[in-house]
Amino acid sequence: MAERRDAILKAIKAAHKLHLDLGVRARLERSNGGRVDVFGAIGELGATLMFQPLDKLLGAYVPAEEPGILITTKRPLSIQRFTAAHELGHLYMNHQSSLDDQGILGRAPFSPAKGLALQELEADAFASMFLAPAWLVALIVRRQGWAPERLADPATAYQLSLRLGTSYAATCHVLERHKAIKREQLKHLLSVEPKAIKRALLHGHEPPDWRSDVWLLTDRDEGLVVEGGRHDLFVVQLPENSSAGYLWNFDALKAEGFALVADDHEGDTARAGAMVTRKITAQASGRVSRAVTFREQRPWMPEEALKEFHLQYELRGPEEPGMWEPDLMRVLQAA
Ligand SMILES: [Zn+2]
Repeated sequence: MAERRDAILKAIKAAHKLHLDLGVRARLERSNGGRVDVFGAIGELGATLMFQPLDKLLGAYVPAEEPGILITTKRPLSIQRFTAAHELGHLYMNHQSSLDDQGILGRAPFSPAKGLALQELEADAFASMFLAPAWLVALIVRRQGWAPERLADPATAYQLSLRLGTSYAATCHVLERHKAIKREQLKHLLSVEPKAIKRALLHGHEPPDWRSDVWLLTDRDEGLVVEGGRHDLFVVQLPENSSAGYLWNFDALKAEGFALVADDHEGDTARAGAMVTRKITAQASGRVSRAVTFREQRPWMPEEALKEFHLQYELRGPEEPGMWEPDLMRVLQAA
């Protein structure tokens, strides 16, 4: 057992050291949102990252003079990212070659159970700590203004998972590891299906694919970089000064190819001077990276905005077959 606990500690230290070496924390503290760039980290360590339609494997690590990491294209982005972080752990801790299947998802990281090879235990713990360190969870909680007890609420844990870029289940495990929730609360969180959380956010709208994620965006997300899947949905919820004639204008989203599937007002719309909440639901339709600005304005004075809301989005997931794009660009430019 001691040997296994030491392995977990070694992996946690390694993840911390790599964050420092790559300046991960400084970069994320400067930007509003954004996830740990695990694919970029693999490139920075000099390994080649490839995506392939693997059926039985989620990923593989091949040590060599020029090491290689292979990730399946048949899983959503959060699983691709976790697999990449697991393989990055093998690479950074100088492990033997590894072929990793579904098993890496079912294992509870940090549980020093017997029967699992030490290097797999290390890679699991490394992956969790690299993608979701305590300081990053704290940073997101602070930006969102969530009271600590809200982390035991499935809807909050789900929104946290989207901002971390980890699966809902992996996020719940990490919250327990960071002692943000108790073991019984972890059990409760894991008993809730993400689909139920998405359904509650969509109020009757049926997306074409329930694997798509549903982002709840509020004024706390001003300037956020949304990194998600190509068919993700945004529920945007903003206070609106409509009694003074101001309305949020979401035409920019439509111009960018999003489908507006719901548009509602909540609150006392009849009372003069009352603030209401404007709530729209928009669905992305393809692989796209852009920025968009919404403006709260009077329709008859569109040049004057009371407020603006800025959003950047990179809806790339899941990654497609081939060499990781930034690597490919570097190779092509060098040729
Ligand atoms: Zn492995």
